[in-house]
Amino acid sequence: MTMASSNESPLKTALSQLRRAVEQLGLSENDWNTLSTPRRLMEVAVPLRRDNGHVEMYKGYRVQYSTTRGPAKGGIRFHQDIDLDETIALAMLMTWKCALTNLPYGGAKGGVAVDPKTLSLAENERLTRRYTSEILPIIGPERDIPAPDVGTDERNMAWIMDTYSVNAGYSVPGVVTGKPIVLGGSLGRTSATGDGVAISVREALKLRGIDPTKATVAIQGFGKVGYWAAVALEKQGLKVVAVSDVNGGVTGYKNVAEVKAHLDKTGSVVGTPGTSPLTNTELLHLAVDVLVPAALADSITEASAPGIQAKIVVEGANAPTTPQGDAIMNDKGILVVPDILANSGGVIVSYFEWVQDKQKYFWSAAEVIENLNEIMMRATKEVAEVASSRGVTWREAANMISVERVAQAHRLRGLYP
Ligand code: GLU
Repeated sequence: MTMASSNESPLKTALSQLRRAVEQLGLSENDWNTLSTPRRLMEVAVPLRRDNGHVEMYKGYRVQYSTTRGPAKGGIRFHQDIDLDETIALAMLMTWKCALTNLPYGGAKGGVAVDPKTLSLAENERLTRRYTSEILPIIGPERDIPAPDVGTDERNMAWIMDTYSVNAGYSVPGVVTGKPIVLGGSLGRTSATGDGVAISVREALKLRGIDPTKATVAIQGFGKVGYWAAVALEKQGLKVVAVSDVNGGVTGYKNVAEVKAHLDKTGSVVGTPGTSPLTNTELLHLAVDVLVPAALADSITEASAPGIQAKIVVEGANAPTTPQGDAIMNDKGILVVPDILANSGGVIVSYFEWVQDKQKYFWSAAEVIENLNEIMMRATKEVAEVASSRGVTWREAANMISVERVAQAHRLRGLYP
């Protein structure tokens, strides 16, 4: 396999990164074959009766990339552009993310190719329930545990939990994470990915000797990850100078609460009173200390990377950087905290939620945040150590640690029969 060329799909990017890790670790061709193959792929047709009586068909997916280290784990994405290849790539990333943070999980991802903004609440519920019933045979608290991702939230998780439970005949909260608190959700799960991004920023600033109260940050994306990262970073004393959504960005507000209020009222951050607009590319190129891409894949490319002025890039989104974008940032000496570390807060607190559901014993918010900090700081320390001892980037170090863990688990389990 050769390195991916420009405008590659997320799957080619993910495979090229895996290939590099396999080479750097000196693993065998057998290891490459077992690690580079997704284990279970499900594609389903999801019929939806629209409110007007028309029946429309949507494509749904669930990919269990690996179950070697434990049940498959990963989010469900509702987005018009998802396909099987992207779902495989994201499921592979979940596998490395869970291994890097040492959670007892494999990796999965799923989704429906639909723009959730085009659905009424009732349509969203019917689509979620039908998709759940289509993938029902392969999910479960010991098999595969979905969670929120782009375009889904705790409401969808409640419907998934209910659909699964009705079919089981009893309540099964552990089938899904990111649920509402009253259904067995965990305190701190809603903000967990953003909180984790802020922990990564804090640790990276420490390493670079930058005082957080004098640091500036720009955040691309103001959804489940970007918004909560902005809130947590403001609390840490950073100045969040710009945020954006799909419609564009804004700068010049007093605090992110103002932008959130405008978003809740109008559906976009653009036009927040007293702000100046900027494009998503202009946001990437601001002269800030830290840049957080927290939107979709392929935001930092060979086209956008040359203009980046930030000293530190913390990947809140999954796969926001192409291999070319990555190489350009490395040449510029930018410290890139890779997605599988930077955005692992979500799945870490998902793991806490699953543990609490299994034990039927629930933790305080303080316990959640303390344990989240501990796991992320341990993973960060391991990545920084491997990066400096092996002379590799943080992304390469993170991939080496996680791929080695999965390869080791394969070796110890052996091949059946
Ligand atoms: N969708 C989130 C991610 O990409 C969370 C996954 C989970 O909690 O299982 O990491």
